[in-house]
Amino acid sequence: MKNRRIHRTEESASIHLAGHDVAYTLKRSSARRTLALGLRDGGRVVVNAPFRLPRGHIDGFLRQHADWLLQRLLRQPEPMIWRDGMVLPLLGRELRLVHRGLAGPMPSQLSLFDQDVGQDAESPVLEGDRLICPGGRGSLEARVMLWYRQQAGIWLDQRLEHLCREQGIAQPAWRLSNARTRWGSLSPAGVVSLNWRLIKASPEEIDYVICHELAHFRQRNHSAAFWAEVARLCPGHESARRRLKEHGPHYFEF
Ligand SMILES: [Zn+2]
Repeated sequence: MKNRRIHRTEESASIHLAGHDVAYTLKRSSARRTLALGLRDGGRVVVNAPFRLPRGHIDGFLRQHADWLLQRLLRQPEPMIWRDGMVLPLLGRELRLVHRGLAGPMPSQLSLFDQDVGQDAESPVLEGDRLICPGGRGSLEARVMLWYRQQAGIWLDQRLEHLCREQGIAQPAWRLSNARTRWGSLSPAGVVSLNWRLIKASPEEIDYVICHELAHFRQRNHSAAFWAEVARLCPGHESARRRLKEHGPHYFEF
């Protein structure tokens, strides 16, 4: 029995359960004898199954566990409470939000990039690993979100420009996106969309997403040739991609 190859496949599937379309990832392995149902962070449903188990068995198994699954999938996430002391992700680091009334002294540094992006008296200001947020508490969330988008706009533009220059390619038009599930995309007209929430990820994760979209200029698919292009543009993309998958749900919390 030595050297027997283990066969594995992975596919996207979906099933209709009690009025809901539930998408799941079906992972088959010849080393597996039983069915297992799991829910990953961010609500991704994964079914592990023996290699040749008929689809009908798998669907039956999912129907059997429909209550358990739907209960967890439909649970609303805890609402975020915007307050002094909360921890926010930025460029793979952690910032602490410091909420201050307007009267307090404000530090002089304007932003991450020493670039004035139209701050007013109530704009957050980065000081080391603290994000100082002056002003009323009611609009704290809106002000922090605006600040994040501004930082994302500057950082992503700089990285896109840098990576294109490095490859000797013309910088494509791009826009900031607010998509709920995807990090980036390339439109048929050649406009790159990048999610503003990427600014929460590490620089390596951000570069990977930009290179992923740049690779789509040559390969408008996810073929082996596409991934070879990604590897060429972004050495080390595997670990960045893995980290983004792992941390992604956290970056999507706001
Ligand atoms: Zn893609």
